[in-house]
Parts: sequence; C-alpha cells; structure tokens
Amino acid sequence: MTPQESTIETKPLVAGIDLGGTAVNVTLLDHTGEFLIHDLFEHPARSVEGPAICLQQIIDGLQAAMTQVGRRKEEISAIGLDTPGPATADGVLSKQGSTNFIHPDWAGFDIRGNLEQLLGIPVHYLNDGNAAAVWGHNSIFGNQPEKTSVSAIIGTGLGGGIVHQGCVVAGSRGFGGELGHVLIPTALLCEMIPELKSHRSLCNCGRVGDLESLCSLTAIRKSLLPHFLQNYRNHELASLDPSKAAIRVRGLAVAGDEMCQAIFRVQARALGLFFDQMINTFDPDALIIGGGAIETEKSFQQWFINEVRQGMPTQREEQQDIVIEIMPNGDTAGARGAAIEAQRVLISSH
Ligand SMILES: [Zn+2]
Repeated sequence: MTPQESTIETKPLVAGIDLGGTAVNVTLLDHTGEFLIHDLFEHPARSVEGPAICLQQIIDGLQAAMTQVGRRKEEISAIGLDTPGPATADGVLSKQGSTNFIHPDWAGFDIRGNLEQLLGIPVHYLNDGNAAAVWGHNSIFGNQPEKTSVSAIIGTGLGGGIVHQGCVVAGSRGFGGELGHVLIPTALLCEMIPELKSHRSLCNCGRVGDLESLCSLTAIRKSLLPHFLQNYRNHELASLDPSKAAIRVRGLAVAGDEMCQAIFRVQARALGLFFDQMINTFDPDALIIGGGAIETEKSFQQWFINEVRQGMPTQREEQQDIVIEIMPNGDTAGARGAAIEAQRVLISSH
C-alpha cells in the first residue's frame, strides 16, 4: 500500500460547502458515495460583514454539521467549496466584487486559499453553477466517466454548467459554463412568440438577448413582466411592486394564469434555443433544468419541458432521444456537487 492509498482508506470523508448570500449550506459525502446529511444543513453566512467573519461562519457551520453526524473534522480528507461568481477557476473572487460579496475586503479575495489555510485541509473550488451541474449530472449518471450533460439553473440569474465526459468544464479563467450570457437567436424566438417583437431584453452584463435576459427571475422582473402587462392592464400583478409581482409569476403560471404562462413560455422557448446550441456543440447525453423557477408541481415541470422541446429546432434523428431532466434536491445541489467534485479530484490525484 502506498502512503496515498493509506490516506484515502483511513480518511475518506469529504465535505461540500455552498456559500450563498445569506447562508452556508454544508453536506458530507463518505467513501461509498453516500451523503451523510440528507436535508438542507444551513448556518448563517454573514458574508456582508466581510471575509474574516464569513470564513469563521463557514468553519463553525462545518463543525456543527460534523457534530450532527458524529464525525470529527480530522476525518475530512478534502473540502469542495462553491460560491457565486465571478471568480477565477481557483477561487479568487473578482476585484469588482459582486452582489453577494459587497464588503470591500472581498475584492480579489482568495477564498479557496484562505479557507484551506485556516482548516489545514485541501479545498477544491467551483462556482455555484458548475457545482450544481456536477450534482445534476451525478444524480442521473452517477460517476459514469463517459457521459456528458448540460445543466441550466433558472434562479435570480441563470447559472449552470457543462460536465463533459465526467469532468466539469470550469474553463481556463473560471468562466466555463457561464451559460446565462450566451446569446439567443431572438429573431427565432419572436417567430415563435410574436408578442415579443417590440421587446428588448437587456442583461446585467450588458448584452442584449442572452439567455439570462430571457430566462431568469431578473428577466421577469426587469423586462418580461412589464412587457406583458402592457396587454394585461387589469391583471392582478399590475398594481404590485415589480419585485413582489415577479416572485408571484411562477405560482400563477402553475395555476393556469394566461399571462404568467406566456412569460414562462418565453423562458422555456429561449432555453430550447439555447439547448439546441449545446446539442450541436457537445452532443450531450442529457439536458438538465434546475432552480427555483421549476421547483414546483410535476405537471408544471412536464409542461415546461414540453415548451422547451417546442423551442428547439428539429433535431437530427440520432439526437431526438436526448433526455431533458429536472434536477433533484435543488437547494442542496451546490454543496453536493462541490463535495462530489472534491472527492473525484482527490481520488484521481492519487
Ligand atoms: Zn448576460
């Protein structure tokens, strides 16, 4: 037995830590691929108070999770960490900051390196979209190395990732799988949905007509809802504050509201056009949809998938059976994916 093999056999436990805006979500993955924490395990993140306080919150959250399952920190072989971007592939946060890291000390902060130093345990970094994509892929294919999937996570923005033959495409600069900012052929979208002709969808990144600008909660709030309300002036959402109204669109769409379903149809068809680009780029085994937008009844999920398919131009016969799946356990996806990736990297490095 080599010293490395000895390390794996005696210290097989891996932790996954998903740092969001307000909470740290922790999970633990053992050497058999079983998650020792089945539900959401959250600890306050306090990220607005800066990195020193937030990193201590992460360590406290990890300790609390270990205590819950009766394991010790010393048993952890590696940690998978994910955060919202933008960040480098190695976990150095953008100098320009982001909505989740507004305290000035976060600018250019090496969150991966600092956490690794504090804990004395190897830390592997992914952005949150890529971590969720690893979970989505693994939930369907396990660790089959030859499989390829594309995951789109519809939340406040649109994140996601590509797992190509078992490996997540993090990219050379950390921007792999920035699916939200891929441009959509909006002329085709307007052919399918004529009401969109006078609509201009501007993304926070500055692009017009990218996926996030058409398929996200932000897209609903900033442009889709105001646009559709022009034709539904007496709609119950017309008198509400836009951010409150946007959150209610999904529930009303599920209940059969015509305008809200039309808004979800735009999102689904845009996603269909995007998936078509991915099919022609990666020839994947599965397309996966996750995020708050579709964490609802099965019948609505199926309606949404059907709309996505209708948004896709005709596929080659050989590619017509590419499955579209809904990502399970959405709220723990980041932590689970980060843990799976950390374990995969640990094992493949030995
Ligand atoms: Zn964008």
